Amino acid sequence: MNNPEVLERLRSLLGRGLITDPKALKPYETDGITAIREVPWLVALPESEAQVEAVLAICHEHEIPVVARGAGTGLSGGARPVADGLVLGLSRLNQILEIDLDNAVARVQPGVRNLAITEAASAHGLYYAPDPSSQIACSIGGNVAENSGGVHCLKYGLTLHNVLGVKLLCIDGQVLSLGGKRMDSPGYDLLALTMGSEGMLGIVTEVTVRLLPVPPYKQAAEDFVHAGYPRDAAAVLICELDGVAAEVESDLALVDRVLKSQGAFDIRVAVTAEEQERLWLGRKAAFPAVGRISPDYYCMDGTIPRAKLAEVLHRIAQLSEQYGLAVANVFHAGDGNLHPLILYDSNQPGQLAGAEEMGGRILELCVAAGGTVTGEHGVGVEKLDQMCVQFGSAELEQMHRLKAAFDPQGLLNPGKAVPALTRCSELGGMHVHDGRVPFPNLPRF
Ligand SMILES: Cc1cc2nc3c(=O)[nH]c(=O)nc-3n(C[C@H](O)[C@H](O)[C@H](O)COP(=O)(O)OP(=O)(O)OC[C@H]3O[C@@H](n4cnc5c(N)ncnc54)[C@H](O)[C@@H]3O)c2cc1C
Repeated sequence: MNNPEVLERLRSLLGRGLITDPKALKPYETDGITAIREVPWLVALPESEAQVEAVLAICHEHEIPVVARGAGTGLSGGARPVADGLVLGLSRLNQILEIDLDNAVARVQPGVRNLAITEAASAHGLYYAPDPSSQIACSIGGNVAENSGGVHCLKYGLTLHNVLGVKLLCIDGQVLSLGGKRMDSPGYDLLALTMGSEGMLGIVTEVTVRLLPVPPYKQAAEDFVHAGYPRDAAAVLICELDGVAAEVESDLALVDRVLKSQGAFDIRVAVTAEEQERLWLGRKAAFPAVGRISPDYYCMDGTIPRAKLAEVLHRIAQLSEQYGLAVANVFHAGDGNLHPLILYDSNQPGQLAGAEEMGGRILELCVAAGGTVTGEHGVGVEKLDQMCVQFGSAELEQMHRLKAAFDPQGLLNPGKAVPALTRCSELGGMHVHDGRVPFPNLPRF
């Protein structure tokens, strides 16, 4: 694509914040799921909301597709560029605008890292609860767009439950101010609609988050972090308890009783902050730790009703045997959010395709168990086919209508999150009824 007028206008707006050199564009070709790549036409790195607005106005006028990008840690290809489009990188909008102690909220720009909010609030005894394992790097704008979760979310809720307000810039220049420092708003809940919207409805340019008091009391891959996990266990469960001392003590007794009754043979209680941190480090570093035992891995993200955990893990083990690919199961057990990591070697012919196919089967298994094809990583481009399993045409049509209400030209993150109905019909109307897809024995394409 070449459009000298657009290039000139963007260059005079952004200066060095416009990237056009093919070598410099390369790092933007993928997000955290590196098997899915596309080099964009341009990358724009605005430094202010006014610049974001001006970039969108140019793209709207010239019908240029726009893919928003936070930190690029997404695991479903949501920030993967389109070849003739512009990547709108929001990492330079990284200011904490306000910490309002009276209302216990923070107002931040979209490029602020998740952990930076807690770092800024901790001096006041406050923190931001949702804590994706990528929190050291991922942005709050990306968290909103993916409705991200983390280990605190079983008790304190997802991004959806901890974001009170969002400023959303639409592709036609409208600015929507949704929510605020209060708990609820009248009318349709457009704020909730932005959660998990994957950059398809508008660009998040400001986020107001709820801050919580740091609880007074907390109890909380061995070769990688030396966390002290037992090496002979089939599974390790980390359980964090927080609250006032009396509450934590009674919860601890209860958890101890439940775990022992279910066959736990080694229960360790972390008391000091260092012990707690070491135990969590093993979980938070689980993905890189798997890199020690396999050249590549494919991370899935499905969610099931908690009571189905054992059954679904058993089926995953069967699929692992069938496909000849090992699986390391890392998950948020309390939320029923599974992350089976399918281990493969991309240098071995057929292994990547096998891993992708097996990943699809795992997600269909989650739907059949009454769950969903994504817990927190979003649909992106990775799970489009499985959206046809999850939803029928009535639901998908409403999603397309919703997208058209915000972005009638389909310029924002085209081809992501909601599959075209033709795609689903080519796949054979895979919507699950009574826990089964139609004609389960037929091969899917
Ligand atoms: C090691 C590792 C561990 C992870 N652990 C977790 C976890 O525990 N929980 C979890 O939920 N996720 C996890 N993730 C996935 C990922 O970090 C989250 O989805 C995160 O929210 C993505 O944020 P980001 O800033 O990197 O967004 P990106 O990857 O840059 O973008 C993600 C999506 O958001 C859109 N987007 C980004 N910014 C904006 C904006 N300002 N306005 C509109 N749309 C926008 C993009 O278009 C894209 O569709 C993990 C990833 C890795 C690599």
